[in-house]
Amino acid sequence: MSVTQQQVLDALSRVMSPRGVALPNANVLSAITVTDGKVFFSVNVDAAEARAWESVRAQAEAAVRAIPGVSVAMIALTAERKPGSASPPPVPQPHRHTSGHSHSAGVQPAASHRPPQGGQNPMSKQAEIPGIAAIIAVASGKGGVGKSTTALNLALGLRDQGLRVGLLDADIYGPSVPRLTGIHDKPQLNADRKMIPIERFGLSIMSIGFLVEEDTAMIWRGPMVMSAITQMLRDVEWGKLDVLVVDMPPGTGDAQLTLAQNVPLKGAIIISTPQDLSLIDARRGLAMFRKVNVPVLGIVENMSYFQCPHCGTRSDIFGHGGARHEAEKLGVPFLGEIPLHMSIRATSDAGTPVVDSEPDGPHAAIYRSIGARVREQLQDVIAAA
Ligand code: ADP
Repeated sequence: MSVTQQQVLDALSRVMSPRGVALPNANVLSAITVTDGKVFFSVNVDAAEARAWESVRAQAEAAVRAIPGVSVAMIALTAERKPGSASPPPVPQPHRHTSGHSHSAGVQPAASHRPPQGGQNPMSKQAEIPGIAAIIAVASGKGGVGKSTTALNLALGLRDQGLRVGLLDADIYGPSVPRLTGIHDKPQLNADRKMIPIERFGLSIMSIGFLVEEDTAMIWRGPMVMSAITQMLRDVEWGKLDVLVVDMPPGTGDAQLTLAQNVPLKGAIIISTPQDLSLIDARRGLAMFRKVNVPVLGIVENMSYFQCPHCGTRSDIFGHGGARHEAEKLGVPFLGEIPLHMSIRATSDAGTPVVDSEPDGPHAAIYRSIGARVREQLQDVIAAA
């Protein structure tokens, strides 16, 4: 029996809000997404009221959970600070699992809709994920530059360094990891109701795309993106990992900035194509990570040059080399250049990433060498874990 949005609203109408009206009438709910028994929405309130609303969020969660057919409920309480508000946002609490039988996971009132104002990565201490030595982001200034393809093959390149590696597809607007990996299974829940990542190619993989249909049009508000990603970080049984590669949503908007600030990142890698425009975007990416004190481990130039699949001839159709030059100028490491090649595209689209399906080929070697450079930079963190 499939759960409907109306059933969710009916259940929520029995939850009273601090405003003296039932929750659906309190003008605080985001759009409610119901897919395959999984319910996602957020309760958006002013930061000053957040504490009073936490119990409402919990009641809402219990009410949704009680609907027959609901398997997961992601209900986030997001606190927006009114511009000019003098009151500090509520202190973020580490995420707790209070019961062994909860289907759903709440998010603490942590994410402010306003972009962070720079400085320290304030949540990194309390937000560390036990068992994961280093979380690194793969980011790009815009979409379509091959960020996800690179993230997956880089994860495999790190695997080939003998590391235990996970991949979190946080590209919530267009999760492509199900397509790139050919994974169409739904994650199972463990006894603590944590999601078990899918094991494929020796990687532990999690994507929002495993939970919602790929063609489901999702309109995510900034705070909701953070909540969903926080839950995928914390409500997943990652086990022991040396590196968790996070495939970020493309771009450098508020959602990305909030993510960069709130996920305890040990570093970031920026993917760029050689075109000027993309390099400008890449510079924005760099600035974003620097603003929140996340070290940039380097830039990768993707689709760097065209390599003919027939004769192997190389053509620098985009005037390659821009990213290397830019990296030098900006004082960040240049991690490597990946050609635009048919077999990278074909293997990606077939769900058989090139590092795994053509391990002895030239492309696998490139991703492995990028993996080796990244590993070198994370050596101390991994050794200390
Ligand atoms: P993004 O995550 O930046 O949106 P994707 O990784 O989804 O980009 O890649 C976009 C498209 O480009 C996909 O069809 C992918 O197969 C292809 N692609 C990515 N990198 C390469 C490459 N180096 N050579 C050939 N095709 C590539």
